[in-house]
Amino acid sequence: MVYDATMLEAFYPAYKGKVEHVRAILKRPLTLAEKILYAHLYDVADVKDYQRGEDYVNFRPDRVAMQDATAQMALLQFMNAGKDQVAVPSTVHCDHLIQAYKGAKEDIATARLTNEEVYDFLRDVSSRYGIGFWKPGAGIIHQVVLENYAFPGGMMVGTDSHTPNAGGLGMVAIGVGGADAVDVMTGMEWELKMPKIIGVRLTGKLNGWASPKDVILKLAGILTVKGGTNAIIEYFGPGTESLSATGKATICNMGAEVGATTSLFPFDERMATYLKATGRERVVELAETVGADLRADDEVAEEPTKYYDRVIEIDLSELEPYINGPFTPDAATPISKFAEKVLLNGYPRKMEVGLIGSCTNSSYQDLSRAASLAKQVAEKNLSVAAPLIVNPGSEQIRATAERDGMIEAFEQIGATIMANACGPCIGQWKRETDDPTRKNSIVTSFNRNFAKRADGNPNTYAFVASPELTMALTIAGDLCFNPLKDRLVNHEGEKVKLSEPVGDELPLNGFAQGNEGYVAPHGGETEIRVKPDSQRLQLLAPFPAWDGQDLLNMPLLIKAQGKCTTDHISMAGPWLRFRGHLENISDNMLMGAVNAFNGETNKVWNRSTNTYGTVSGTAKMYKSEGVPSIVVAEENYGEGSSREHAAMEPRFLNVRVILAKSFARIHETNLKKQGMLALTFVDKADYDKIREHDLLSVLGLVDFAPGRNLTVVLHHEDGTKESFEVQHTYNEQQIAWFRAGSALNAR
Ligand code: SF4
Repeated sequence: MVYDATMLEAFYPAYKGKVEHVRAILKRPLTLAEKILYAHLYDVADVKDYQRGEDYVNFRPDRVAMQDATAQMALLQFMNAGKDQVAVPSTVHCDHLIQAYKGAKEDIATARLTNEEVYDFLRDVSSRYGIGFWKPGAGIIHQVVLENYAFPGGMMVGTDSHTPNAGGLGMVAIGVGGADAVDVMTGMEWELKMPKIIGVRLTGKLNGWASPKDVILKLAGILTVKGGTNAIIEYFGPGTESLSATGKATICNMGAEVGATTSLFPFDERMATYLKATGRERVVELAETVGADLRADDEVAEEPTKYYDRVIEIDLSELEPYINGPFTPDAATPISKFAEKVLLNGYPRKMEVGLIGSCTNSSYQDLSRAASLAKQVAEKNLSVAAPLIVNPGSEQIRATAERDGMIEAFEQIGATIMANACGPCIGQWKRETDDPTRKNSIVTSFNRNFAKRADGNPNTYAFVASPELTMALTIAGDLCFNPLKDRLVNHEGEKVKLSEPVGDELPLNGFAQGNEGYVAPHGGETEIRVKPDSQRLQLLAPFPAWDGQDLLNMPLLIKAQGKCTTDHISMAGPWLRFRGHLENISDNMLMGAVNAFNGETNKVWNRSTNTYGTVSGTAKMYKSEGVPSIVVAEENYGEGSSREHAAMEPRFLNVRVILAKSFARIHETNLKKQGMLALTFVDKADYDKIREHDLLSVLGLVDFAPGRNLTVVLHHEDGTKESFEVQHTYNEQQIAWFRAGSALNAR
């Protein structure tokens, strides 16, 4: 336990005073999200009734967390900020760079060797600037934050899109790009558009096979991957108290899958129990002094439609287990309809690998319920049809699961226990397969299932479910198996049914600590080394400022068709090793995006050679000729992760504009921070006017102003021209970033 409650001794009394001040000025009941947001205004004198979804507001978050793949770029930027120390408590977590292959021990040893230079850099920069450092194997960022740092009523940012996991302990925790994290670490204002608030009222109580994961899987189907954009999902109602704190964290974690800014639950007994179990009794005592302000005002619950922008009701007692996928986390299907869907769509029916754990579903409750199913294999004389992989979320949970016999239960059915790290969840899975061209299905208890995300194979159909359902399907080896009603045939030829999963919310004997994974900073004189010829790390040079001219005659680099997530823009997996080297990682730019003109990936027309080339190779050639280029895309461009490489790579390769039908929130901000133009069609049908050999101009930049549209001119190859209006969401400050070349340049 590394938590230091000193800062909270002052936080909670101040929080109470701030909320009272806000209520006195706004003169109306407040939602929980509003209380926490307003209590974190950068300047308390700025209290006014901000328009949700419209007004940009400056905040002062309490802390920052960074994972190793994004921390590299965040810290490279922080080093250029001229500060001696971080302004708020911050941590780095080594979780993304460990490849899952043979099992925890060997994989960590391999990771230490292959990533030595990066780990040393992260450790030394952390030590130098006062940042806590969690070593490889210590755990996944969100699980470690939940176990050690999250606190009710707090606000944090994290350079990872699943940072909202901490909402399970009542914290406003928001995923951001590295440049945003730098704002907070330097003590500057951190800007966010005041989010809308979606209220989700929970009633009833989960039972049987249903789990907290199913709440968010169902909600993803209701809201879709865009439905939470620029909104906080605030859970309320009597059902919230029936969910464990870790179950709440799972639900908040996957709010990222509907694009929500964050998700959160009100402070309650279940949170207090978890905080005490993880050694934070003092946090509970302090939080209880302001308990009434760690939930929405009573009037909000009485008339939710008056105070929330949208209200959704879910009755936990009626909730069925869900399976979502393939290829998108919002394709939600209740288990009772899933077999029909598999057969109708011709999904590969054989379930080839089951994967449980990750930051999403690694709680004691998750693992103990899954283990209760694993134990039934021997008890009922069954066999297990598919391999099982387990990624514990932290060393604390792994050590506890080992002490309490769960790891043994998994190993007895042949599971491979991987490192306490992301592994297969981020493409760091060295999967051995007989034929990568064969369509195959996997089920995971992770959160995301975009094409190629787990194993890099486009033929893998990934489905997301609870750990319990993942385990049942692994035992059956059949996607059409419904454990609520179907039976399995055991070695005696008998038909047997799996009993409902059971498990404990928290370990009866407390958590085991496992191996120490935390390194406290030393500060001061720690030397930071970046070799000039390093292939993993590269110091950053500032991007050039805008030259004051309109952008004229830009070649179309790619017109992307369909889904274009950050995985399509800047693939993870093997490319993770270049996350600290902008030039090298730029070679993967948009390689997963589908070219609308030929339906292929990473094959675009190069006007300089009049042949087809890779997206990055073509952009590089234009850049070498001093020619800026433009990318055109469809809906929710940049959906998925917070990785700012997806914005920095195009910037580095002289792409100046992304013109899309719509953007995902974090990515749109990342583009702005890096000095790019993120524009959207006023009329989405204009997307169809853009031809493969067009040159595009963006006019009106001299008068670039908030709320004022710009004009795009298409210069067709046949000499004709067309023009249309495009819109943007830049405010004055963001326009200053564009003019300066980036937000960092504008400091
Ligand atoms: Fe790691 Fe996956 Fe969680 Fe991201 S979602 S932090 S990759 S385990």
